[in-house]
Amino acid sequence: MNDCSTPQRSLYCYPWDVLDSAHHVGELKRLGMHGATLAVSYHAGKFLRPHSDARPRVIFPEDGVVYFEPDLARYGALRPQPHSDPALRRVLPELVADGRLAVHAWTVLLHNSRLGALHPEYTAQNAYGDRYVYSLCPMQPAVFEYAVALCADLGTRGVASVVLETPGWLPYAHGYHHEFAQVRSNVWLDTMLGLCFCDACMGAGRQANLAMSALRERVASAVDQYLQAPGDATPVQAQAWLSADLLADVDLAALLRLRQRRVTQLVKAIRAALPATVELAVIATVQRPTAQNWQEGMDLAALAEVADWIDVPFYEPDAAAVLSDAWDCLRRVGDSANIRAILRPGPPDLGDGAQLAAAVAGLARMKIQHVGFYNYGMLRSAQLEALGATLAAQGPG
Ligand SMILES: [Zn+2]
Repeated sequence: MNDCSTPQRSLYCYPWDVLDSAHHVGELKRLGMHGATLAVSYHAGKFLRPHSDARPRVIFPEDGVVYFEPDLARYGALRPQPHSDPALRRVLPELVADGRLAVHAWTVLLHNSRLGALHPEYTAQNAYGDRYVYSLCPMQPAVFEYAVALCADLGTRGVASVVLETPGWLPYAHGYHHEFAQVRSNVWLDTMLGLCFCDACMGAGRQANLAMSALRERVASAVDQYLQAPGDATPVQAQAWLSADLLADVDLAALLRLRQRRVTQLVKAIRAALPATVELAVIATVQRPTAQNWQEGMDLAALAEVADWIDVPFYEPDAAAVLSDAWDCLRRVGDSANIRAILRPGPPDLGDGAQLAAAVAGLARMKIQHVGFYNYGMLRSAQLEALGATLAAQGPG
């Protein structure tokens, strides 16, 4: 299914950075890129743009909008909100029409606080019944339908691939600005608070013969007790508590597997809704390490069966950590032919050119040859040039 013969390199780009750079395509070509992975559905943020002469220097994009003209007739209860600036909505079609770069539609799917605020009934709901505005629950049929419709809509735009980010549940500790707590985050607490008990999840669990109300009460009570404890767990303790709970609580483990099946089902439906000429990639996780991604409902092996690519963000401080994570991904997927890498050639990751070169070369030795780099607008000129030099030294892609 996948063409593995020629290493493909792509640079992640925001529409505002493409719009503000008259020579964007030529610059990417000169740096050794074959493609641009362009945000077409994206959330809010605060981005410093070191190399651009354009203003603003610090940009706060509109939250939860799409950067194209959606075909609204395709949608049901949930509809995408186009960005208010038509120029930003023209970036995608113009980049596709230019034709010199393969355009990959980087699509943040269910992490959408705008839609969550408009439709709280479709958001994830923790064991206490609290709603997470930033996380649409994929168990909800209306959310499933929206995700498929958005990708099918993008599939008609001449893009080479659709790259899905967050097709599952957001981890508890990701996704909302100004997150405050004087209880330290840990993997046990994040897992418990990241479980969804919305009506759709309760129904799906019951249909699978899980005692959902009792599970919800156990989770809430365990978190209550933890919050009464005198202090925070260490990271090692929290990891051990989680392993022990997953072993002891059969329904908890079953619910997590049920979530994985739902996300796989969604990705499969998206694949079926795309033209055969448009590839489908799934960004493996928004956490480190990648194997933690079951929290989001991700199952790498199953996803590799239904999508064309698994794009793994190997966001690690050095090449050795990149390669050990890659080794684990290969173990899970079983075949490097389905895996592409995403690397950050700048702080906090592989800022040192030697580490970047070692990561790219090491991944190639593991037959992970296709690499996306993050992110055009946020890297300094010197880092972009160093990236280009590293790729040139590795030989033509
Ligand atoms: Zn749910």
